[in-house]
Amino acid sequence: MSLSGGYSWSHKNVRLVGYSMAGITTSIAMPEADVVFDVAQGLPFQMNIPNICLTHGHMDHASGVPYVIGQKSMQGQIQPNFYMPSALVQPMREMMRIWERIEDHTYQYQFVGVEAGRSYPLKSPYFFRTFPTSHRVPSVGYTVFEKRKHLKDEYKNLTRDELIELRRQGVELEEHIEDPLMSFTGDTRIEFLDGAPWVKKSKVLVTEVTFVDSAKSIENAREWGHLHLDELLPRLDSLKCEKVVLIHISARYTTKKVLEILDDKVPEHWKTKVEIFPRPI
Ligand SMILES: [Zn+2]
Ligand SMILES: [Zn+2]
Repeated sequence: MSLSGGYSWSHKNVRLVGYSMAGITTSIAMPEADVVFDVAQGLPFQMNIPNICLTHGHMDHASGVPYVIGQKSMQGQIQPNFYMPSALVQPMREMMRIWERIEDHTYQYQFVGVEAGRSYPLKSPYFFRTFPTSHRVPSVGYTVFEKRKHLKDEYKNLTRDELIELRRQGVELEEHIEDPLMSFTGDTRIEFLDGAPWVKKSKVLVTEVTFVDSAKSIENAREWGHLHLDELLPRLDSLKCEKVVLIHISARYTTKKVLEILDDKVPEHWKTKVEIFPRPI
């Protein structure tokens, strides 16, 4: 790991690179889909990626915006697209106008206000769809989907020659499937699980869990718009995910401590599925 490279985590065809620690920094890229989620700081691993999705405007998720714009401009990269909750667009434009005044330079960039439940294009075969989250400021989560073609069930037992003949007759043999590969919550209370149905079916769910022990109660976590591990555990069996990756864990806990708590609290049949995103302490 280096500051420029980020930490790396992968499961099958989902590869993630970045950092996350509550209140300090969250920025995680999915390089194969050309997208970064949140930019707490401008860091080199984000640089060749043209799509940046902001979950909300808190500084530990969004203060890297002017830096990323400046760096991409300096390197002559195409203007980046920043997707964000609609309420954030105007204040972000004002912030950029001030940075442009400070730097005496005009930048090219695009800020797009997203609506929960809508789909937006990424590099083929990927796209993303937004889902509602619940935080102290306007917020949204993002799911990366992969589009695939798949032989319809009724033709699965036919021979190759029969399929060729049907295709020759102009029969549509395949259907399009949209697989939710990875959902990313940003900061949120547990209610994000009650919104969009595809989130629970994502192959990988990357969710914030800020607090993991009794030093903070579920009520404390909820008051600050966050998720406590104790609130997630009873919901695990409602998930169809292959992996649940915990991010945004408070810096009050060392990685060793978090792993001990997970070992103690996570039900046996979820132990190999619940992981934490690599972290420095
Ligand atoms: Zn945060
Ligand atoms: Zn926040």
